Amino acid sequence: MTRWDEILSLPVQNPSTMEFAACDLVWSKIEGHCDNMDRLALIPFPRVDDFVRGEANNKDCPTRFHVEARRTRSTKVPYKPKVDGILQYILYWCSFGPDDHRKGGVVRPSRASYVPKKSSAGRPSTKRGCTCHFIVKRLIAKPSVALIIYNQDKHVDKKGLPCHGPQDKHAVGTRAMYAPFISEEFRQRVISLLHVGIPVETIMQRHNESVEKQGGPSNANDLITHRHVRTQERNIRRSRYELDDDDDVSLDLWVERNKNIVFFHEEFSDTGPFLLGIQTEWQLQQMIQFGNGRLVALDSRFGTHKLKDLSSVL
Ligand SMILES: [Zn+2]
Repeated sequence: MTRWDEILSLPVQNPSTMEFAACDLVWSKIEGHCDNMDRLALIPFPRVDDFVRGEANNKDCPTRFHVEARRTRSTKVPYKPKVDGILQYILYWCSFGPDDHRKGGVVRPSRASYVPKKSSAGRPSTKRGCTCHFIVKRLIAKPSVALIIYNQDKHVDKKGLPCHGPQDKHAVGTRAMYAPFISEEFRQRVISLLHVGIPVETIMQRHNESVEKQGGPSNANDLITHRHVRTQERNIRRSRYELDDDDDVSLDLWVERNKNIVFFHEEFSDTGPFLLGIQTEWQLQQMIQFGNGRLVALDSRFGTHKLKDLSSVL
């Protein structure tokens, strides 16, 4: 069989879990360029994000993957049908690389203008020369699937040594032990707390208390800073909600802009006031996780805010 016949006849793997990682897939070795053996797997294209998230939540080496390069074939330009033609090429790279801003590390020539920041002890640079990366290709011959080519799946630097995570002894006590960013779930939780008016100081105090109780930081979320929470708070405060002098128009504009968190909207009528149901992503996830399809608690407040009546449903 030729290389592409072999690739196209691989099974499409679709794990039933919300997210999945390389260890949940069976990898096939097929001869690639220069006699190298490529490690390949096919997954449904819409599940690429689930794979990227699963790979980032690696227990042994938590990280994040960013898009280092992307090429998309223009649909307007005609092309000869070729068995190996690709619609899309995406290169995902571990966010601790590919550049190396550690002492003596190598930075690609295109980024040579980079001037190392004066990093205080608490904030070492996140680029540590990690070589871990994978390629996602969407094939013309089979656009519903994503071909993943994963030849460098170890979080090591050019010398082959662990360069972040618990295996890297230089990372001990620094942020490089953990994922380079706080988790989306944690971010949503902080935003939800800010949205209901809990002050930054209170959030940080409770957070620090709970981290202390568990015996120190154990992930990136635990290392969240005052500054980060303050920035989120400022973003919320600066986001405008009075979009028009006319309240009715203002409300419609706001609903239009915040479609993703509005689940119910009924306008003023002769028989009743307007109703607006808002649910942030974090609240939705909490409801799915803890509501168990059975219980929803309702907390109504009257006159505690400038709003006359605010009901929180969890
Ligand atoms: Zn890495």
